[in-house]
Amino acid sequence: MVGLVVLSLFLAGLVGVFLREDEARRSETEGQRAALEAYASATLRRALEDEWRLGVALMDSALAEPLLDDSRLLLVSDGTPLLPRRARGTTAGVVVAMNALLATTVDDPDDSPPAERRRFVTGLARALATSNKPEIESNVRGLLNHRRQFRLGPVDDLSTVLAMIELLQTRSKPTQVLMERVLRDGFTPQEAGLQRHVLELSERLSADELTRVCAIVERQSQRALVQVNDFVARCAAMVGPTGAQVADAPPGLSVQQGFVLRGGPEVRGVAVAIPTLLDAQQTSMRERGLIEETDTLELSSSEGLVDSLLVSVESPRWLEATRQRRSALQLKLVLLAVAFLLGVGLVMLAFTVQRREQALLDTRNELVATVSHELRTPLASLRVMAETLERKTSGVAEAKDWPQRIVAEVDGLSALVENILSFNRLERGRDVLHRQPWALDEVRAWLEADAPEVLSTVQGTSGLTLEADPTWMKVVFLNLLRNARKYNERTPVTFLVDAKRDGGSVVIDVKDNGIGIERAQWESVFEAFHRLRDARGRGGGGSGLGLAIVRRVVEGHGGTVQVVDSSGEGTTFRLVLPRRHIS
Ligand code: ADP
Repeated sequence: MVGLVVLSLFLAGLVGVFLREDEARRSETEGQRAALEAYASATLRRALEDEWRLGVALMDSALAEPLLDDSRLLLVSDGTPLLPRRARGTTAGVVVAMNALLATTVDDPDDSPPAERRRFVTGLARALATSNKPEIESNVRGLLNHRRQFRLGPVDDLSTVLAMIELLQTRSKPTQVLMERVLRDGFTPQEAGLQRHVLELSERLSADELTRVCAIVERQSQRALVQVNDFVARCAAMVGPTGAQVADAPPGLSVQQGFVLRGGPEVRGVAVAIPTLLDAQQTSMRERGLIEETDTLELSSSEGLVDSLLVSVESPRWLEATRQRRSALQLKLVLLAVAFLLGVGLVMLAFTVQRREQALLDTRNELVATVSHELRTPLASLRVMAETLERKTSGVAEAKDWPQRIVAEVDGLSALVENILSFNRLERGRDVLHRQPWALDEVRAWLEADAPEVLSTVQGTSGLTLEADPTWMKVVFLNLLRNARKYNERTPVTFLVDAKRDGGSVVIDVKDNGIGIERAQWESVFEAFHRLRDARGRGGGGSGLGLAIVRRVVEGHGGTVQVVDSSGEGTTFRLVLPRRHIS
């Protein structure tokens, strides 16, 4: 059980170590990735800010010069879109008015500025018909001056200028300089030529009308050999789709509908191609070795505040690393689980084996106890019969000493049976010893009763009382006595019990005059079933249990027993027993 708990704790510790190791590897990869993503995001933000700054720097020029390409710009002031310029108005009728003017010869008597302006055109038509040069010049100059003085609506303004150019080109040969000025360059820096003027008015004209007017200006410019390509391109752009409809942009720099813009009362923005920027960034990071060929940059969202734009770095090697990390962890955990199951299995096996062994041991002990027990009665009967035989045959020469030898053999067998039973009880029982105050002097009587032929001496025992189990103490002393007789070749056998007090203990030396025990065997003779190979002596029927029982009983009393001296002269065993009860 303890083993299982230790194993569980150990495995739990290992799980912890594996999880921590996995986490460390994960955060290392994540850290690397986070650093790259932070770098890529910051670089993209900087690129967008730069784009915006450059675009905004172009805005003033685009406002002043309508021929400039403003398709990438976005300027909305107080809700009014200013850039890119688009034909957003509803005004129409310029071309109709021009054609009507070219068709008429009748002067409008009205003295309003539009009527005044129209009179210059009809006047020019008449002068051209009569080739009256001064009149032609005066009407052209008059019209141009009138333009400077009066700002008319787009219809009146554009129709008269277009009609004037139409008349000059179809009915005379106007100078290149005049046409350059009228169509393109203007007469003063403040005054735009017709091309620019048309583009400036684009917001007020409808898309259809702008297309028509542009077509006329294009034709007139081509006829006059005046540069017109950029104008045509701008016309086309201005009737194109309206572009970004930015209703409310936040004050910070943000990305919306393909524009990077800053909001407020005035929204200023620049068109950006984020995929292109991201591509460029990816290439640069690859060239600098920050990411590998297979790594790609991806934008989490292409709309929103620039500061919150996040670029993620996708890399197959990270996916692979994550996969490998996961499978390594899984494998380790599976191995741990297997180890745990194996541990549980082993513990259960050991438990079962132990229980079986115990059961086997119990059965064996039971059997031995039963057999030994059953032997006691017949042995007792045998002894009585042998003694009777001994008495009846005393003086019969043929009987020799056989009856005595039967008695001795039966005694040896009885001692063996008793030892087996004692050992069994000691092995099995927990509360075998029942201690009580016991006078050591009692040994004397036991020795005399058991072996009157042995010359036993007991000294120093009187007055010494021990806390001991007398039954078991008798077993101890009689076993020692029996060995003294068994392993002895002298007659008489002597057996000395010499006791003395030593502090809280009693030291009892038990000395015989037997054959002795080799020094190397002084300890091993106390092991159960241990017999010396060349054990000589009388009545060799020993079991090797006698001294094992002696040691168990003495130690059970909290004491010690050992051989302290042995030679061919005999052996001394020393028993040290506590005087008082040891709890
Ligand atoms: P056994 O039943 O064989 O006598 P013991 O445990 O009593 O078993 O003794 C173990 C061995 O120690 C014996 O076989 C014997 O050789 C030796 N031995 C025991 N006591 C003595 C002794 N007093 N003198 C000499 N040898 C002894």
